[in-house]
Amino acid sequence: MANKAEKQWMSDLSALGCVVCRNLGHGESPAEIHHLKTGCGTGQRSTDFLTIPLCPQHHRLGGDGIAFHANSKLWQEKYGDEIDLLTQTIHDVGKFRESIFGRAV
Ligand SMILES: [Zn+2]
Ligand SMILES: [Zn+2]
Repeated sequence: MANKAEKQWMSDLSALGCVVCRNLGHGESPAEIHHLKTGCGTGQRSTDFLTIPLCPQHHRLGGDGIAFHANSKLWQEKYGDEIDLLTQTIHDVGKFRESIFGRAV
């Protein structure tokens, strides 16, 4: 069960759009939530903070070399390590929140 902060995080990810599409200069694509494989132990569900926004194509529909779940190794060689994309996402969410709430003192 996601807590309030996790729900806010997920909603911010959806608002940002697919991280790969943005990096490729395709603009903001409607995104699904991808839970990182890294940090997800056996029998454990990873926290909702270990998530990045991916469009359906880059997430699961795009096929080999495009969709993460078709070939995660090849995907990360092409688009970047999912941990690096998470770092970028955390940064982007910070900027996104700043643009909504104004600069924190
Ligand atoms: Zn995408
Ligand atoms: Zn996924």
